[in-house]
Parts: sequence; C-alpha cells; structure tokens
Amino acid sequence: MINKILNKKTLTKGDIITLLKTNKEDTIKLFKKANNIKVETVGNKVYYRGLVEFSNICEKDCFYCGIRKSNSNFEKYNLSDKEIIEAAEFAYKENYGSLVLQSGELKSEYFTNRIEGLLKGIKKVSNNKLGITISLGEQTEETYKKWFNAGAHRYLLRIESSNKDLYYKIHPKNKKHNFEERLECLKSLKKVGYQTGTGVMVGLPFQTYEDLANDLLFMKKFDIDMCGMGPYIEHEDTPLYKFKDELKPLKERFTLTLKMIAILRLIMPDINIAAATALQAIDPLGREKAMKIGANIIMPNITPGMYRDDYSLYQNKPCTDEEASDCKNCLEARITIAGSEIGYGEWGDSLHYKHNKYLE
Ligand code: SAH
Repeated sequence: MINKILNKKTLTKGDIITLLKTNKEDTIKLFKKANNIKVETVGNKVYYRGLVEFSNICEKDCFYCGIRKSNSNFEKYNLSDKEIIEAAEFAYKENYGSLVLQSGELKSEYFTNRIEGLLKGIKKVSNNKLGITISLGEQTEETYKKWFNAGAHRYLLRIESSNKDLYYKIHPKNKKHNFEERLECLKSLKKVGYQTGTGVMVGLPFQTYEDLANDLLFMKKFDIDMCGMGPYIEHEDTPLYKFKDELKPLKERFTLTLKMIAILRLIMPDINIAAATALQAIDPLGREKAMKIGANIIMPNITPGMYRDDYSLYQNKPCTDEEASDCKNCLEARITIAGSEIGYGEWGDSLHYKHNKYLE
C-alpha cells in the first residue's frame, strides 16, 4: 500500500495521515523517496544561513516559548549594531552565502528603523553579496516593504499551527496573538515580494495526525517558498509545560518531524526546507538526518557565544557553549558525513519562488 501512495501524483489528506503513521520499514521507503525527489529537483547541495539571534526581548506571550514576555526567569539581551554587523562580516568572510536575523517580536518605529539600518549595513559590509532572511514576527505591510527595500529578500513566519482551535490553545486569545492577523502577515509578505517561509511545531499538546496533515496541505495551498518546522520541546517556565506528561516521547516527536519534512518534499518538490535546530536538541545528528530525507537548508548559529544561553525558546538547546568558528568546522564535517555538499557563497534561493516568478 505504501508503494502505491508514494507513487501517486497528488496525496490526499488520508494518504498523508497514513504516511505519518507508517511503521519503521515503510518509513524508510518514504525517506528514500523524499531524498530522491530532493536530489532530482533541488540537487544535493545544502545552503547555509548564518543565524544571528540578536535579541530575546519579546512582546508576545506564546504559551510554549521560553522567551515569552511573562517569563522573568532569564537574562534579557540585545546585541549592539556593531556586534550584529560583526556577525555578518563573519558570515561573509566564511563564505556562508546568507544570513538570518531573528529575535523576539517587537513592533515599534524605533525597531523598524533599526532593522532597516542594519539591513543596509549588512549589505554594505558584504559588498551586496550576503543574502538576507529575516524572522522578526508580525509587522505591518509597510514595515515589511521597508525591510524588503533595504535588502532582505526572504522572510520566515511560522503559522505554528494551521488549526485555529489549536492555535488558541498554544497562544493567549487576544489582540497580540490573532490567528487571522498572522495569516494576513503571510499574505503581505508574499505580496511585497519576499520568498516566504512558514512552518509549524510538531508534537504539540492536543495536536492530532489530522492537524499535521492539514498543516502540510495548508503550506501547499498557500504555495509557500520555504519551510522551517521542528519538534516542539517543552520548557519548564512556560504554561504548556503542565501538559508534558501528555506529549509523545521526544524520540517520537523527532521521527514525526522527519516524516513531516519528507512528506512536504513529496508534495512541494522545489521549495527550500530547513533542518531545524530543535531537531539537534533531541538527536546530536538531528539536522544531518533531516538533510538525508528532504531538507536542504541549514542555519549554523553565529550569535556571539556569550548570548546563546539566553535565547532559550526551548530547553536543551544545542551548542550554546560554543563560538561561531567552532560550529563551522563541526558542521562541515557533519554535512560531508551525511553525503551532501555545501553551497558555499551561494544564496541558494527557493527554486519554487523562481519557477513562480517565471510563470508570471
Ligand atoms: N518572534 C519571531 C521568531 C522567533 S521564535 C516570530 O514570531 O516569528 C522562532 C520559532 O521558534 C517560533 O516560530 C516557534 O515555532 C519556535 N519555538 C518557540 N518555542 C518553541 C519550543 N518550546 N519548542 C520548539 N520550538 C519552539
């Protein structure tokens, strides 16, 4: 039966649920198929996006996240512009090709202007060579436009869950956390012209297989260019922690995330899919495993080491005691072992985006 599903042109929700529930033997078939499709469609290269988590200050209160506004049990930090630009210089010098700027969510004129200046600064120090992805939450279309014009060309905004009911179980139901608004933001990002990425957390409390299948179909319908999805990892200083005994074991959440990535590769062959860092919090070779079954993007952390401990969205975050240069050597070896090649110095843009542009 699995062979029949894997050879179908279009997968139904039922097919996806079957794939998500497959046993070990069939999972291997799914993974092989996903890897073949990846290599045939986007090739065997892995592209780097040096990740700068420049601040953990956040106005939101998401029930799963360790840096939520109501948690006072962590040190707040905000890198200086100089430190951020230095991280960009590091990425440029090391030929990473691209950078991701991510932080807690702030919405203010000051923040908008600060980011605009930083984007221009990064372009300048890299002679326009570094590609820039940003992941700075929900903003107005005007702000998205400003940042696009300043040099960012990819944006990551996870929908977290495409099921509205589940969305409100993992977020407070108020103005700052509005499902429709998040959707509108994703639409604005596409309209402005970004390569638009979204994603979900896998293994959330209350989440069903049907929810996960719907998440994948949502991404297909929304016609995203990129995806980053990772396992949900409980954090003891958050409200969702009280459901920890109802969660799937970490290893199961890990495998389920890999299955989600593999199925997404089947249904959207030419998009960019990131091997999320949270995978590595469960399995030291987590990201490499993801690359073998469909992922083609990796985000080496280049946040200066002294701050890494405090960007604790979830617990057991890997490599928080290292510096960017340590990560580089370690990662290169791991990727080579996983049988992929690194696209040094290349942007590695989403082919899907390019295909769509071509059709316009
Ligand atoms: N504030 C930005 C990005 C920062 S958070 C935004 O809103 O887009 C980046 C991602 O980390 C979130 O989208 C969420 O999916 C993930 N995350 C947060 N807490 C997590 C947890 N406990 N386990 C796994 N992933 C988590």
